Amino acid sequence: MFDIIIIGGGTAGMTAAIYGARAGKKCLLIEGNAFGGQIIYSSSVENYPGFSKISGAEFADKLFEQVSNLPVEIAYEEVVKVDVGSGVTIHTDSGEYEGKTLIIATGTKHRKLGLENEEALVGNGISYCALCDGPLYKDQEVCVVGSGNSAIQTAIFLSEYCKKVEMLVRGNVLKGEQNQIDLLNQKNNVSILYNTTVEKLLGDTELTGIIIKNENGETKKDLNGLFVSIGQVPDASYFKDIIEIDEYGYIVAGEDCKTNVPFIFAAGDCRTKNVRQLTTAVADGTIAVIGACKYLENKN
Ligand SMILES: Cc1cc2nc3c(=O)[nH]c(=O)nc-3n(C[C@H](O)[C@H](O)[C@H](O)COP(=O)(O)OP(=O)(O)OC[C@H]3O[C@@H](n4cnc5c(N)ncnc54)[C@H](O)[C@@H]3O)c2cc1C
Repeated sequence: MFDIIIIGGGTAGMTAAIYGARAGKKCLLIEGNAFGGQIIYSSSVENYPGFSKISGAEFADKLFEQVSNLPVEIAYEEVVKVDVGSGVTIHTDSGEYEGKTLIIATGTKHRKLGLENEEALVGNGISYCALCDGPLYKDQEVCVVGSGNSAIQTAIFLSEYCKKVEMLVRGNVLKGEQNQIDLLNQKNNVSILYNTTVEKLLGDTELTGIIIKNENGETKKDLNGLFVSIGQVPDASYFKDIIEIDEYGYIVAGEDCKTNVPFIFAAGDCRTKNVRQLTTAVADGTIAVIGACKYLENKN
């Protein structure tokens, strides 16, 4: 029986594990994909206090190294179901664990365009990760869909490899930080099409082009790669029978990270909040685990 089970080895989950282990609690950290979570897709993090500039992968490595040096039990497994009684039973793709308290830190996943054949074309012309797939498009022509910081960073990163990068922006402005926009504007091989949406993906097994729509009507565009960077969506649907989830799929929890079940906490991007960043994920991981420790103390 674990004192604290943490689902999700992103920034929030790993922070919770660090604080939990240091508080002398028996902690289990479960990660189904890659330790580090979303930030591993970022080529450069420049707003985390203490690091002027660090790659997302290096940030994640440092955090994981810190966790690994503490007495935290680690499971590389995907959680598929959670049962609630006086504590929790966590079912994964290969095991089952009992916990007195639970911290859910499952973050978010990439938002998809929702177009026909999108799933089949992922890895065959469609990508959600420039860092992973960008080099495959060396000297080729690609488009980036999106207008926020992630899309801007994606375009900047791709401009180093690709012959031409075109950003397709649904509205009439870029929504990123000004220093990122300034950096983007310095790139000679990046152009921006505003008020433009992607209507159709072309190609059965490999992306050959797209149909875009803007003030000029619908136009066909031949391209080699389409990088989709239109934000993140929560993936907390499998908790809906045990805790409250809002209409957008986020776990309902305030700044104290408490859910409607007294021994279940939600930390990081998966919970209802206004700002989803590394700093707020770290804060949540800390607050959630302190909440779990207090619950355990009061119970004993
Ligand atoms: C491209 C990009 C660039 C970014 N750049 C910045 C930046 O420069 N600065 C900044 O502050 N923030 C940045 N962010 C945002 C930042 O990455 C997030 O706010 C932060 O990662 C949230 O951490 P988290 O731990 O809540 O969730 P996540 O990082 O999403 O981690 C959740 C983890 O839970 C795991 N998980 C999910 N479901 C299960 C399951 N069923 N079983 C087991 N494991 C599961 C996932 O695999 C994942 O590892 C960026 C995000 C992206 C996508």
